[in-house]
Amino acid sequence: MVSLSSLLSKHVSHLARHQYDVIVVGGGHAGTEAGAAAARVGAETLLVTQKIHTIGALSCNPSLGGVGKGQLVKEVDALDGLCGRAGDWAGIHFSILNRRKGPAVWGPRAQLDRQRYREFIQSELLSTPRLTVLEGSVEELLITEPNPEEPGHHRVTGIRLANGSHSISARSVVLTTGTFLSGSLFVGQTTSPGGRIGDAPSSAGLSHMMREKLGLRIGRLRTGTPPRIVKDSVDLSLAKLHPPDSHPTPFSFLNTHTRCKPEEQLPCHLTFTTPGVERVVRESLHLNCHIQQDTKGPRYCPSIESRVLRFPGRNHQVWLEPEGVTSDLLYPQGLSMTMPPDMQLRLIREIPPMHRAEIHMPGYGVQYDFVCPTQLSPALQVKSTQGLFLAGQINGTTGYEEAAAQGLWAGVNAARWALSMPTVALSRTESYIGVLIDDLVSRGVTEPYRMFTSRAEFRTHLRPDNADLRLTLKGFEEVGCVSSLRHQETLRVRNSLQDALTALQALTLSTANWKKKLPGIPISETKSTLMTGIDLLQYSDVTFEMLASAFPESLSPYVKFSQRLKIEAVYKPHCDLNKKEIERIQREENMSLPQDIDYFSLPVSLSQEVREILDKVRPSTLGAATRLEGITPAAVVNLLNYVRITE
Ligand code: FAD
Repeated sequence: MVSLSSLLSKHVSHLARHQYDVIVVGGGHAGTEAGAAAARVGAETLLVTQKIHTIGALSCNPSLGGVGKGQLVKEVDALDGLCGRAGDWAGIHFSILNRRKGPAVWGPRAQLDRQRYREFIQSELLSTPRLTVLEGSVEELLITEPNPEEPGHHRVTGIRLANGSHSISARSVVLTTGTFLSGSLFVGQTTSPGGRIGDAPSSAGLSHMMREKLGLRIGRLRTGTPPRIVKDSVDLSLAKLHPPDSHPTPFSFLNTHTRCKPEEQLPCHLTFTTPGVERVVRESLHLNCHIQQDTKGPRYCPSIESRVLRFPGRNHQVWLEPEGVTSDLLYPQGLSMTMPPDMQLRLIREIPPMHRAEIHMPGYGVQYDFVCPTQLSPALQVKSTQGLFLAGQINGTTGYEEAAAQGLWAGVNAARWALSMPTVALSRTESYIGVLIDDLVSRGVTEPYRMFTSRAEFRTHLRPDNADLRLTLKGFEEVGCVSSLRHQETLRVRNSLQDALTALQALTLSTANWKKKLPGIPISETKSTLMTGIDLLQYSDVTFEMLASAFPESLSPYVKFSQRLKIEAVYKPHCDLNKKEIERIQREENMSLPQDIDYFSLPVSLSQEVREILDKVRPSTLGAATRLEGITPAAVVNLLNYVRITE
């Protein structure tokens, strides 16, 4: 990594410019990926963020990946994004979650060293060609009045900084304000303006402007974080040790190993709440403003207050996670809370390993504005405002990975828009990023959205192991956000895998002959049929190494791809079956629905309710219309007939 101070001085000297192709507002997980992606596509890009030293900060848990989220990290990496490589640099405890299930739904995850993560992201960003980073707070978007020929359509032309005088022009702007948009912090009965502890909120003017001037529907969501605990005050011998995987698996396709050596990894610990915890929660309810509000919080990452109230009488899991190699703190995952600090101390001391624990910083909650994402196109551009793109928590999602994935895609499209290239979309058949964006823009959110593998219809195809084959070539050839180095590497891997599969297919033997070659394999000799190497590899007890030892001349060159080949073979029948369905959906995805269509006067049979839904959401494609809540199969057939006539 290059020294941060030398990189910072380079940026200070750039600040005289007043015109960029793309301006990214915010240096969180969405903003950093957006800025880097826009620059990779070729746009002169400015990233403006409140504090340079908080770029890449992990506001809540020090971890990356997990089930569904790990798939997003792999896809961001396949498109040359930052977070996968940052995770490999900063990871201190790697594990593959869901290992008892099939590899398609494995969840690569790592516990991170907060400081190392931030340093990596800052160093990458500050050394990215065509990207300038500016410390400042954006107070206003510069917007043209609507074009009389396109009523209601504004165009963004730049930003104004908080000091009031300084404005900077750009052809497109990506807003990634996270939990900061009109943010309020909550602890006990105290409320204060803020986007995160120690950070001011984003100006209320931005939110007001989007609501009043651009006519956007804005909602409010909330989330919370646990107290940070002094490590030395916790008796970890009273908790269950949870070791990392003995061989850390890197996130990035460019890395063969992680920075942290296997033996240097730190353990996590598991403990449980007690009835005393429930008692403290109930006693403190009247002192807890955050919990009393109606605003929706993250269902799958609930506070201890919500867990106890929804499931009384249970002992809830609490993970005690390290915050870094040299950090003196522990992160108690599962204990997000917003009661007064003295009650927080009482609560944690009800849990055996923390009987004498000390709190370094109390837990708190945050409430913030978000923009209802059905107002965005699949390129994450605001439909009614040309050149304005939104990504991350501002679109109603929660989580670093969801933010990073959207940020990358919004950055790509903001750059393409600025450079007069057509915007691009990812389909749900090719990526989790496509699933995420399609869910947001066609269904919207009523509570913070997080990714799960169950949201993807074709998860046997959208696997973490093959994200490079699905996305890197497209990212280089069609999108322009992938370096030629990564492209070359992926071509090499793809060709080797194809050659290995051809070699496996060519190994066609009778079961009796396979048995002779590999006496221990679990197939019946009486079943005298022909089997290929791929058929055989589908058996759980057969490994590629076993086949390679029997046929070294044709298979040994591919031993380093053993695990990938095993997974390819196992999922081949399933993927072959899905192929037709994927092709049908891709055809539908490609049938675009004009954005100026008047659904109320469309001369096809549609109920008033269906017309209202279509008018409100304005799906970009037939595929997106199909997935809208309230759209019946009959309505889809009628729409399909209409699209066919007008095409
Ligand atoms: P952020 O990471 O919030 O970054 C926003 C960036 O924009 C910041 O750098 C900020 O300084 C900058 N910014 C904002 N406004 C302006 C402006 N006007 N001008 C210039 N810069 C600006 N996620 C989970 O998955 N689970 C959880 O339990 C969870 N709990 C959380 C609890 C708390 C208290 C907080 C604060 C966050 C929590 N998160 C949680 C959310 C997680 O941090 C976000 O999902 C993720 O960080 C979103 O990334 P982002 O890039 O959209 O925004």
